[in-house]
Amino acid sequence: MSFTIPRTQKAAIVSTAGAKIQIKTDHPVKTQAELAPGECLVKLECTGVCHTDLHAAIGDWPLAASTPLIGGHEGVGVIVAIGSNTNHSPVKLGDRVGIKWLADSCLNCEHCRKGREQNCPDAKLSGFTVDGTFSQYVVSFVNHVTPIPEGFDSNAAASILCAGVTTYRAVKYSNTSAGDWIVLPGAGGGLGHLAVQYAKTRNLRVIAIDTGAAKKELCLSLGAEAWIDFKECKDVVKEIKAITGGEGAHAAIVTATTGAGYQQAVSYLRAGGTLMAVGLPGSATLDTSIFFCVFKSINIHGSYVGNRQDAVEALDIAARGDVKCHFELKSLADLESTYEGMHNGTVAGRIVLDMTK
Ligand code: NAD
Ligand code: ZN
Repeated sequence: MSFTIPRTQKAAIVSTAGAKIQIKTDHPVKTQAELAPGECLVKLECTGVCHTDLHAAIGDWPLAASTPLIGGHEGVGVIVAIGSNTNHSPVKLGDRVGIKWLADSCLNCEHCRKGREQNCPDAKLSGFTVDGTFSQYVVSFVNHVTPIPEGFDSNAAASILCAGVTTYRAVKYSNTSAGDWIVLPGAGGGLGHLAVQYAKTRNLRVIAIDTGAAKKELCLSLGAEAWIDFKECKDVVKEIKAITGGEGAHAAIVTATTGAGYQQAVSYLRAGGTLMAVGLPGSATLDTSIFFCVFKSINIHGSYVGNRQDAVEALDIAARGDVKCHFELKSLADLESTYEGMHNGTVAGRIVLDMTK
């Protein structure tokens, strides 16, 4: 099997943090000979746009992305070249694979050996420390690309690679069991609307928090049992306690992009409850009562994307139709307006970019 690979491609490039996105049509594509052992070249069909890409592009995090930056880490495409002298590759030419935030890790350090590959000190991050998926071709790594289950539509699969994996893992480690209440601040966004569904696959009872009619409708249609509009509700703690029969929720997964989404979580959790921190406001702190954290035996976990196994499991559930990404298909030229929409909070679910046009 061999593929004709063009010399140049279309790519969305941010020259320095905060700069306007430039769509270039003459960005070089690496040749097979330029790939290092373990690297593969993927011809992208599509890519989701995550709020993380927006954080990286505007530079509002304590860690800075490499620039010039090609963002993007929810890509699906076909392997068209593999570096020479690549040994024991789990994938081959022509395979359809997904690119996730964790582009590569060493697989041999303590963190990798313990299955926490995302904490590997040598981790390469797609669209942050290495070029990402807002281009027609991307260099990735054979050990970390994720095979896409046969028959699963690429556009539907794209956002499972970050939003799906991340929320799947957060639900998995939320110390909950069937029938428990889970609160999801940010439920109407890209991560949140998938969190609603992964929570439902475990028979959790979902309280969705977000704002606006479109997100309300989306969350309720996906099976959320209760809805709280954070811009309208006067007392979120009181409301959650009322919904849950007085004791509060068993867990919360915060995918809101602001510190405000974290406020009160410890107050609306019942004793023994778990707060999964997922949303990444750059400078907010978690301001909460130490006394009540201790007194109520509260667990607070930082939950960072997922490992290779989480990616396989999250995709498998979605491929079988139990979790569906609600997305609108756009093109690379719409990246700037997509960021504006995310910034203004008007994107319900996800925007996926068609990279074949
Ligand atoms: P998004 O913009 O699609 O969704 C965020 C949602 O939060 C929006 O619907 C918004 O209306 C809502 N929101 C804002 N303030 C809120 C509040 N006070 N209460 C409740 N809801 C509120 O963004 P996304 O792509 O879903 O990403 C969400 C966050 O998760 C980002 O900060 C992103 O960087 C982060 N993220 C973290 C990981 C991880 O591994 N932990 C992985 C991917 C993304
Ligand atoms: Zn992401």
